[in-house]
Amino acid sequence: MSASQIPPATAVPGDDVPTLLVKIFGKDRPGITAGLFETLAAYSVDVVDIEQVVTRGRITLCALVTAPSPGQGSAEGDLRATVHGWAESMNLQAEIISGRGDNRPRGTGRSHVTVLGHPLTAETTAAIAAAITATGGNIDRIFRLAKYPVTAVEFAVSGAETASLRSVLAPEAAQLGVDVAVVAAGLQRRAQRLVVMDVDSTLIQDEVIELFAAHAGCEAEVAEVTAAAMRGELDFEQSLHARVELLGGLDASVVEAVRKEVRLTPGARTLVRTLKRLGYQVGVVSGGFTQVTDALQEELGLDFASANTLEIVDGKLTGRVTGDIVDRAGKARLLRSFAQRAGVPLAQTVAIGDGANDLDMLNAAGLGVAFNAKPVVREAAHTAVNVPFLDTVLYLLGITREEVEAAETHVG
Ligand SMILES: [Mg+2]
Repeated sequence: MSASQIPPATAVPGDDVPTLLVKIFGKDRPGITAGLFETLAAYSVDVVDIEQVVTRGRITLCALVTAPSPGQGSAEGDLRATVHGWAESMNLQAEIISGRGDNRPRGTGRSHVTVLGHPLTAETTAAIAAAITATGGNIDRIFRLAKYPVTAVEFAVSGAETASLRSVLAPEAAQLGVDVAVVAAGLQRRAQRLVVMDVDSTLIQDEVIELFAAHAGCEAEVAEVTAAAMRGELDFEQSLHARVELLGGLDASVVEAVRKEVRLTPGARTLVRTLKRLGYQVGVVSGGFTQVTDALQEELGLDFASANTLEIVDGKLTGRVTGDIVDRAGKARLLRSFAQRAGVPLAQTVAIGDGANDLDMLNAAGLGVAFNAKPVVREAAHTAVNVPFLDTVLYLLGITREEVEAAETHVG
């Protein structure tokens, strides 16, 4: 049929058109949906809406259809009797509610609220739902994204601004000990994106400077400089120089040893592999060292990597770094530069990090995720993940566990 032959839409009823909401509930098995619609087909009704879910083997199928034409006498009564008869023969419960028109229009302002629980309790679910209601939001849909390694549930919410949902839900989540992410709904969420991660204690479980310090026998001294920086006595650049200086004279062969000691965070490979399969670009920025990030870039197939470089002269670490320093401001600058090179607007970037050093980057990104972060970072970021699995970030992007697993099995 060519476009000019398509008849004017009659299937979408106005508010005054009689409609029937048919709800079927019972043990799921193949053929239920086909059976219901074959039964309805005898009455020449049009389908206005269908929603179906299966929970622990039980199907809930809701069909909104136009009421049969009143010219057909007791058509609606016949339809009711036939559907109930069919449901009984299938051992299903049926409920048919008469009404008018389509679904109630949804309020403006659409967001996705993802809740990660480990476990997810009824008390938490009640508190999150109540907080959504308090912002004026309505929960339109709920579905499970994952049951492992965390329980991840997504609420589609309308009628509230994304920013106000975020500001209400973030403290609620912190108090409840769960992770909640709020992102605006819309095409942007599906658009190709860029994910940029911190390295130390984010992509990997280690702090690389500490691995080097162990080889130099100066762990305590390095730890003392780190502590001074955390107390605010030194800025990042000063602390970097002070710590790298302690590595002066180390044999360059230590670089290879440290590379081998680095332990990826659980879920890191799955996260990167899934993002790459979805066409995302992935990068890392690190206040650590290119001697390690270059190897990670190659191993994981990362699109971008930037870090500080330890100077090596005559086979020894000099105790200095070369080039521009990657610090807090530098990380945010690199996020912008990667986004530009990737051709991705900043609003479609995701940044993940754990330290105060990552805050500018987390705030500059479309979605900033504090990953098992220090409290100061957690409080300032858009969202926090406090379970030790990096692939849980995928759920914040609306990617389900099933999709992740499907992507894994297709890896050659
Ligand atoms: Mg870090």
